[in-house]
Amino acid sequence: MGYNEKMFALGNKRSIIREIFEYSKQRAAEIGADKVFDFSLGNPSVPAPAEVNETIARLLREKDSVLLHGYTSAQGDANVRRVIAESISSRFGVQMPADLLYMTCGAAASLSISLKAVIEEGKGDECIVFAPFFTEYRVFIENAGGKLVVSTPMEKTFQVDIADFESKINERTKAVIVNSPNNPSGVVYSEETVKALCAVLERKSREYGHVIYLIADEPYRELVYADVKVPYLMNYYKNTLVCYSYSKSLSLPGERIGYIAVCPEMEEAKSIYLAVCGAGRSLGYVCAPSLMQQVIAECLDAKVNVEAYKKNRDLLYDNLTAYGYECVKPDGAFYLFVKALEEDAYRFYEAAKKHEILVVPCDDFGVSGYVRIAYCTDYDRVKNALPAFKALAEAYKA
Ligand code: PLP
Repeated sequence: MGYNEKMFALGNKRSIIREIFEYSKQRAAEIGADKVFDFSLGNPSVPAPAEVNETIARLLREKDSVLLHGYTSAQGDANVRRVIAESISSRFGVQMPADLLYMTCGAAASLSISLKAVIEEGKGDECIVFAPFFTEYRVFIENAGGKLVVSTPMEKTFQVDIADFESKINERTKAVIVNSPNNPSGVVYSEETVKALCAVLERKSREYGHVIYLIADEPYRELVYADVKVPYLMNYYKNTLVCYSYSKSLSLPGERIGYIAVCPEMEEAKSIYLAVCGAGRSLGYVCAPSLMQQVIAECLDAKVNVEAYKKNRDLLYDNLTAYGYECVKPDGAFYLFVKALEEDAYRFYEAAKKHEILVVPCDDFGVSGYVRIAYCTDYDRVKNALPAFKALAEAYKA
């Protein structure tokens, strides 16, 4: 055919979220946007903090334009990395040096680069992910030449099933991705879970005589609603790479900014960092957006209005459970993971559509029979959708 068939298949595959997106637009044109209850997209609905927008405007006014828009060094501007490293050190109690920090174009880039840095193509390397998991992991892992292995979660709580996790590790296991708060379940992995998981990793690394890397995917770290702690994985396991992003924490998903932090205690940390630099280079990233690097460095303490998401979560969770839906109460992120009212989540999605509710069936996330409701929307959309959710539940009871 003269082109890369694997890439063609990836571009050509119609994702369910894209299907829903197209349908939602078409339906809104037919009956009005306010009558379509679209909960499919994980696009932040609260604005970026005013401080961020003001900083962008001020930098554009005051800074030298050539410098501001110029290339930075591949790993990111030295001063930006220094202030972020200081912030990590003071927030999480690790001694984070700037020269183990690598600025990226968001978590997707952080993950692709980290996986490429540790997976050795052609060696059968495997990467374990915990279901339910962000579907793009498959793309990133396979693109790095690895194989995705799924660990099934505990029923109902969706915490890691440690016994299942241990059974999935073998001599080919190279990395493990942990995403907490989780997309799509909203679950925050408890400290107990993290400790147990890290103990298994220590033991298995010793048993197989090689490092198993822990990759912490953390775009939702700041979006937590209860008084829960999101353990900082470097404090529990030294061979950790943290993949951070400002997409959700500062509502900047289109600006593409984040970082990779290599744990300073990691074995051969400097070499892994150089492999990260090499992977970023090989993937053609060049450098993270220069203006955004400067903005982040000045807005490290800025926060989005997490209360708005919490209000949506409470309204949705309280009412849906009262109508008879089963779901785990999410402590973080902005998703509700709901058990479909019939076995086949796709059929349930179709049934919900008849009530103008658009949710994502989650089979591709590694758990069948569930749908994801992204409640990063206006409060009014959640409120106005409640009668439709009620009618949907009643239709199943009839
Ligand atoms: N990881 C998870 C779990 C996500 O949900 C997302 C985006 O929704 C990403 C990574 C990618 O985020 P980013 O926009 O920072 O690339």
